[in-house]
Amino acid sequence: MYTQVPIIGVVGHKDSGKTAVTESVVRMLTRKGHRVATAKHVNQEGFSLDTKGKDTWRHSVAGANPVASVSDIETAVLIKDGVKKFSLDSLLGFTSEADFMMLEGFSWLVLSDEHVGKILCVRNMEEYEDYKEKAKGEILAFCSMRRLGKPVLRIDEDSETLVKQVLGFLRKKQRISKILDCLPGLDCRKCGHSSCEEMALAVYRKEMRLKDCVPLKLVSKLKTRITINGSELPIQPFVSEIIRNSILGMISSLKGVSIGGNEEVQVEITS
Ligand code: SF4
Repeated sequence: MYTQVPIIGVVGHKDSGKTAVTESVVRMLTRKGHRVATAKHVNQEGFSLDTKGKDTWRHSVAGANPVASVSDIETAVLIKDGVKKFSLDSLLGFTSEADFMMLEGFSWLVLSDEHVGKILCVRNMEEYEDYKEKAKGEILAFCSMRRLGKPVLRIDEDSETLVKQVLGFLRKKQRISKILDCLPGLDCRKCGHSSCEEMALAVYRKEMRLKDCVPLKLVSKLKTRITINGSELPIQPFVSEIIRNSILGMISSLKGVSIGGNEEVQVEITS
């Protein structure tokens, strides 16, 4: 998820201030020039933005899915699948232009997803303790409409602090994403981490260095030569790098293969 838009989830029970928090953060971020996308879970059975009898409703009754309506001021895409088929990945397909995605509600997704930054709205300290125990991953803030005292922020008084937390989360995600771009993306586990994403996080935390990535280390040691029917083909360093990355990446990720950096690797292509 690090390569995608950072997601922030605003979660809380009924009347805990979720919409006020979302509204306040969106307003402050957009004023600072950020592009923010939002999604809200509507906890009302059978709710639809579509209107019975309208043209888009008739399209969907006829079997169309999704149905888009485009006017001079907006485009709405109605996906007739409901919450059971909803996933964060499907939502992110619509948000590539945004710097942030904010979710209001969706507690079952947000609380268990370590990649999602969490703003947790509480009505009392019991809810604070409960969320503290349940939430996995980064909690950006606890907020309340009431004065509960530290560490719970007051929604109407502490919005600057809240936005600082959100921007810090964005900067962290951007740095991890840049580190991830430098890794080969093979998820070969040779660095001791279960994926390149985990490794990027370890590099960000200064627990590992980029050069601890085994395929990356090999890339800097080995040279690339292409010969066709015995004649060497002159290649640019950039092309050499791409070929080297691709071939070594594929070979070093094979089970049981250990490359030290001094081997001669031959790929023979015959008709
Ligand atoms: S060794 Fe490199 S390519 Fe393999 S999982 Fe680690 S970071 Fe990714």
